[in-house]
Amino acid sequence: ETPRLRKPDWIRVKAPSGKGYSETKEIMRTHQLATVCEEAGCPNVGECWSQGHATMMIMGEICTRGCTFCNVATGRPDALDVFEPGRVADAVQKLGLKHVVITSVDRDDLNDGGAEHIAQTIRATRHRAPDTTIEVLTPDFLKCGSEALETVVDARPDVFNHNLETVPGLYPTVRPGARYFHSLRLLQRVKELDPTMFTKSGIMVGLGEDRQAVLQVMDDMRAADVDFITIGQYLQPTSRHHAVHRYVTPDEFAAYEKAAWGKGFLMVSATPLTRSSYHAGDDFARLKAA
Ligand code: SF4
Ligand code: SF4
Repeated sequence: ETPRLRKPDWIRVKAPSGKGYSETKEIMRTHQLATVCEEAGCPNVGECWSQGHATMMIMGEICTRGCTFCNVATGRPDALDVFEPGRVADAVQKLGLKHVVITSVDRDDLNDGGAEHIAQTIRATRHRAPDTTIEVLTPDFLKCGSEALETVVDARPDVFNHNLETVPGLYPTVRPGARYFHSLRLLQRVKELDPTMFTKSGIMVGLGEDRQAVLQVMDDMRAADVDFITIGQYLQPTSRHHAVHRYVTPDEFAAYEKAAWGKGFLMVSATPLTRSSYHAGDDFARLKAA
């Protein structure tokens, strides 16, 4: 086991507290909904939940993949819960969210990868909370036909997000079971199916990638017409997970941000604490108003 690096002072995490935080927690608990915020031990949970932002994770808490950065349990998942789309919709309405991010575990055990369940969750949420903008953060549907992706796009989320997670050279160690060019092609296909839909992707840094490879990923994303990019520092959930190779400095993040704007992304978030869903609603609202 490699010794863990000391966290630098720019990775400051406030302990979650406050009324908004406990209200969000209560609504998630009574609706039996899992959140990435908790599963991933996200450092922003205090800030996000106190503002009513949360990322819900549907289709169970057991994933068929075993990405080495991810804290979600790997194994054989439970059957889908047909009432879950309704509970998500109800929670979104009760929380009064402006923007919701809905994500899921990977379901290689299902023929459609869970696409219909995701689509139903989008439709139910749209129906109950018509003013809430909906972002889905989807699996890669690697083992499904092209209909799976079409099913999700047909449900018309406002933002279609699928993370590349890391540079292609690190896929075998970081994201085994996934394919870089498949994920890139998935994003491009969304834009082909519906050019009015915003597409978004993100990577973590500090996993051992070099700067040139990160810039190449940005170019690849733009070539696939990806609109929004997120770049954040990888944090190791437990000592059994992929080690933090290094802490990328705030100045390096600022340089990535500048490079990304220069490449023509419509929205860029690149800071140590950026997560795929961090401030997603605020950024999107700003873009719509512009
Ligand atoms: Fe949840 Fe995303 Fe906020 Fe983290 S950044 S607490 S995952 S909404
Ligand atoms: Fe975690 Fe998603 Fe990988 Fe599953 S597919 S292990 S939920 S990152």
